[in-house]
Amino acid sequence: MDNYDSKKVEEKIRRFWDKEKIFKFDLKKKGRVYSIDTPPPTVSGKMHIGHAYMYSQMDFVARFRRMFGLNVFYPFGTDDNGLPTERLIEKLKNVKSKSMKREEFIKLCLKTLKEITPGFIQDWRILGISADYSLCYSTIDDNSRRLSQKSFIELYKKGLIYKKGFPTLWCPECQTSVAQAELEDKEIPSLFSTLKFNCNGKDLLIATTRPELLGACVAVFVNPKDKRYADLIGKKAKVPLFDFEVPVISDESADMEKGTGVLMICSYGDKYDAEAINRHKLEPRIVLNLDGTLKIKPYEGLKIKEARKKILEELKEKNLITEQKQISHAVNTHDKCGTEIEFLPTEQWFIKILDKKKKFIEQGNKIKWHPEFMHKRYDNWVNGLEWDWNISRDRHFGVPIPVWQCEKCKGIIIAEEKDLPVDPTTTKKKCLKCKQEAKGEEKVLDTWMTSSISPQIASSLIKEKVKIPFSLRPQAHDIIRTWLFYTLTKSLLHENKIPWENVMVSGFVTLGGEKMSKSKGNVISPQEVMEKYSADTLRFWAAGSKLGEDLDYQEKDIVAGKKFETKLWNASRFVFMNLKDFNGKKPKSLIKIDELFLRKLNSLVKSITGGFENYEYSKAKIETEKFFWQMFCDNYLEIVKKRIYNNKKGKESAQYALYTGLLTILKLIAPIMPFITEEIYLENFKKTEKDKSIHISKWPEYGKEGKADEFDLFISILGKIRQEKTNNKKAMNAEIILTIEDKDYRQIKEMIEDLKDVANAREIKTGGFGVEFV
Ligand SMILES: [Zn+2]
Ligand SMILES: [Zn+2]
Repeated sequence: MDNYDSKKVEEKIRRFWDKEKIFKFDLKKKGRVYSIDTPPPTVSGKMHIGHAYMYSQMDFVARFRRMFGLNVFYPFGTDDNGLPTERLIEKLKNVKSKSMKREEFIKLCLKTLKEITPGFIQDWRILGISADYSLCYSTIDDNSRRLSQKSFIELYKKGLIYKKGFPTLWCPECQTSVAQAELEDKEIPSLFSTLKFNCNGKDLLIATTRPELLGACVAVFVNPKDKRYADLIGKKAKVPLFDFEVPVISDESADMEKGTGVLMICSYGDKYDAEAINRHKLEPRIVLNLDGTLKIKPYEGLKIKEARKKILEELKEKNLITEQKQISHAVNTHDKCGTEIEFLPTEQWFIKILDKKKKFIEQGNKIKWHPEFMHKRYDNWVNGLEWDWNISRDRHFGVPIPVWQCEKCKGIIIAEEKDLPVDPTTTKKKCLKCKQEAKGEEKVLDTWMTSSISPQIASSLIKEKVKIPFSLRPQAHDIIRTWLFYTLTKSLLHENKIPWENVMVSGFVTLGGEKMSKSKGNVISPQEVMEKYSADTLRFWAAGSKLGEDLDYQEKDIVAGKKFETKLWNASRFVFMNLKDFNGKKPKSLIKIDELFLRKLNSLVKSITGGFENYEYSKAKIETEKFFWQMFCDNYLEIVKKRIYNNKKGKESAQYALYTGLLTILKLIAPIMPFITEEIYLENFKKTEKDKSIHISKWPEYGKEGKADEFDLFISILGKIRQEKTNNKKAMNAEIILTIEDKDYRQIKEMIEDLKDVANAREIKTGGFGVEFV
């Protein structure tokens, strides 16, 4: 093949890996096990560029460890239950989960997933992710459901899970409770209106952004230090538009500086309200339905925003507003749909975590974080925890909560382990005490409840032969507070262990400095990039930042990768044209310059190995690329080509160094560009190397670093000669008579023949640098 056809080659190599089972995990293989808790991507149609970025970086590490002699356990999974999957299926099939029977909807989900998952995973294969795809799980398959329910049962029996009815975070759009980790702050514009309450026959002014909650008002607070309102404490205030009064209560939490200094307490405006109502033992007035509509007259059925508008109109009409101003404030929204979060009293299941903050911090300290600054984000999240972990969701497609409740005695019946996985809404259970049918729990578990046992699920694929802690958890930084934190929580609560020894956290991809998003329309499709360029070049780009850093997508970086790919191909062809009669063996003695070149190579290997060991794959990209272009192609190849071509003395020495140089370069870049390196290896090196694939060949070794000053001097003189030729508009092979410094001559004496060859010098004299054209 003359030109490198990446499309054809990459497909061929993929088939080769599959057929030869290159990445198959084998417990009996030699080497310590290096276990990876592969992130199961959420099945969402197609791989996005952020995936490509993060999974490439994780794959660099996996491929390096494999070549470094470790037995890499690298399963694959998909996260395909819970709200994101429900929303996907609703979109694909144009249905609404909530208006379908649970059983029917689940059936539809499972059927659709079966159709789309293979195509979804294919993108990971095309990208060259070297997981063992025969060890594959889905977070909704029987085994995952069983393990997830088992985890629930164990924690319940340990007294770590409780069910409680109280105001929780609620998304009226998705109609489910959500966890603190699913909140997203959004800055939104809002109207801040000052309303007239009435107390003691006088106006009592209160400012609010949520007049639609007037009907939910249960008290007003004033600060005990606030002299303006001291005489009102203990009195009643009439709520505007409504026919009821609420107590005026003295409470230090009322901010005298904010608004009028009087605070309206509603059930429930926010978490603060919920706590205040609890603190003063007030009777809540619930005005919202679970779908976010009002349930009080005369606003029944209106959505929050409609009700707000109507109430403001009525207040204006009755002259009950004294002031209005436009403000912008941060509100909690649901990260899955962007809807503003409400607080509604519902019964939910929780895992106790708030009392273990100290322990979580300690566990975090036992893990090695790459890069270290991500550790801080974890600590900050733990320190800022305000809620126990809400694990139940009022949805259909998730792992069912394996409990029944007797409606008579309220007793909770837990499923037996031998019956798992179980769906309590379709399996009957009797209350032994009351001898009557108990009601199966209709809520399902949040998807993190299952993905938080990903190491345990992965380990179960090989009968728990790989133990926890795993060696590595790779992931992106946006899910430190969810996936990372919850996995650590589960390992602590179940096994009192850390789930992994190392965590590597990737950054995001930006476009023009901005986060990519579909709504903004600034999205790069990795499929298109791989189609137009190649998977190798996309990976090459992904190696362009340090771990944990965000990377801007720029096509010029992909183009640079493509150039590198082409040059690797062409240089390899050229090298092997010169190695036709080479037997792969090291000659008895090496020519000086070849030896020095190998010394340079040795330093490169040392630096890159150290980099990879510290998860600094970008070093391999930068340094190998530089060495290849400058040292190998521009200089060393040029230096030795005449010696080989003209069959001069030391030909075998040059051939050996070329062979070793190219093979080493290929191995160093193989984790990043697995396809082209494999192709060159199979085409050229396979005859002399014994390994079936470059990816299971031995990582290059390095010895003690040695000086190569003479080599550097040689290269700098060569550089000067080339400059002279360029300045005089001469061809690079123009014949010259060369004069160099006396001391330089002595230093590179052993390499004078090589200098003559590469510079095409008829003779080399001493006494000051000079180039004379002949
Ligand atoms: Zn939502
Ligand atoms: Zn009972």
